[in-house]
Amino acid sequence: MNVLKLPLASEAVDRAGELRLKPDELAKLWKSARILHFASGKFRVKANNELDFQSADQILELRDKAEFAQGEELFLGIDNGTSYFAWCSDAEDFECFELLENYQTLRTLGDHLSQLEMGLAIHSQAIANWHHSHQFCARCGLPTVSANGGSLRKCSSDGSEHYPRTDGAVIVLVKDKKDRILLGRQKVWPERRFSCFAGFVEPGESFEQTVLREVFEESGIKLEEITYLGSQPWPFPASIMISFSAIATNPDDAIPDGEEIEEIRWLSRDQMRESIADESLTLPPNMSVARKMIEFWYENEGVDASSKR
Ligand SMILES: [Zn+2]
Repeated sequence: MNVLKLPLASEAVDRAGELRLKPDELAKLWKSARILHFASGKFRVKANNELDFQSADQILELRDKAEFAQGEELFLGIDNGTSYFAWCSDAEDFECFELLENYQTLRTLGDHLSQLEMGLAIHSQAIANWHHSHQFCARCGLPTVSANGGSLRKCSSDGSEHYPRTDGAVIVLVKDKKDRILLGRQKVWPERRFSCFAGFVEPGESFEQTVLREVFEESGIKLEEITYLGSQPWPFPASIMISFSAIATNPDDAIPDGEEIEEIRWLSRDQMRESIADESLTLPPNMSVARKMIEFWYENEGVDASSKR
């Protein structure tokens, strides 16, 4: 289990994968399901920003609008006898923005969702993003169609099956032996934002190798004592963040790469407090893994993640 409690790593519904191969049963479940509507990167919500689950009949009504007519039925799973689906409309460029008046992004809704809703929304968004960008067969270029409750796509010509992909990315809480942490600043971030070091796993790499490579590339720091902290999906558009802490063996050599990272800082707890107070530093948003990692360090003085359990 995760050492860190991560906001997007939700206890979700039973995905009931065995039903994906039973289209008749899925069709029956759809009729009484609670259905999320995901369109143009946003979820349908009520006035109070709660997710607005639709009935099958309400989805039919929504589909009267040309922009929502086309899409995919995605089976999300079952919880306490209730089945959950998403209707993911493919329309991207609406000319009529009023259509999306009652829709919000996951980033906006993040803090307001229950664990169940978060799990459903994350699953919907991740798989809808994938469907959207895999409309054609990577082998022959002809159209693919959704199959098995939306869990894969099949080529309409050669029958080849295409499965959703998730891109692994590591994120690292770099510490020194004085229990300071090293944060970096990317040029593209909002002003004064600092965060942990992160990067995508390359083909042929283990997570631990990625941790060593990314942190060295971006900061010149070499690491030891790599410890797993937890993971959470990050469907913006298709990642999973795998979180580690590690100890720097050459803390005095920290230097930004000047490409991706423009500034780096070692921070003690006192320095962190002061920098936030004098507004020379802001932390990443609440929903992010990095924020939880930094808070975890801040609140657990002298207690290593691995020995806390
Ligand atoms: Zn094909």
